[in-house]
Amino acid sequence: MFLYTPEYTANEVLAKHWSDMRLPVSPVVIARRAGVDVRAGDPRELEGASGWYRLAHSRPLILFNGSESPTRQRFTIAHELGHHFLEHGERKRDTPSEFSASTFDFVEAAANRFAADLLMPATAVTWLVENKGYVSIEALAREFLVSEVAMRYRLKNLRLI
Ligand SMILES: [Zn+2]
Repeated sequence: MFLYTPEYTANEVLAKHWSDMRLPVSPVVIARRAGVDVRAGDPRELEGASGWYRLAHSRPLILFNGSESPTRQRFTIAHELGHHFLEHGERKRDTPSEFSASTFDFVEAAANRFAADLLMPATAVTWLVENKGYVSIEALAREFLVSEVAMRYRLKNLRLI
């Protein structure tokens, strides 16, 4: 477990499953290519949570909360994919506290880092900022279909702001 960093793993997954390099990155397409089922969970099974990574008939399954905003749903699916590719095993349901940047849970923080790197590939962010003149966080967040909060973190992390 934890042989590779979330950053390394996200780049490996992008290299393998994001060959068209189109934006926004689709975590659903990546999941399906990797043999992971994805569907909106019904409210009873999710119990109000945002997402859940589990095994169903020994196949990996990601459930997401379809009543949340599209950017949240995308981040949730990418986060649950982090649990899958980082081999965290079956997890409990993820609530907003797991997605918080201030989480103290090492495993959840790793899944969040994976999600950010997957949805906002370093090469694409750097290219838009340095070659396409993108300066606004709002415009970048629209391009990557992520929240402005997530976009700001990613830009800081890449030392672009
Ligand atoms: Zn999680």
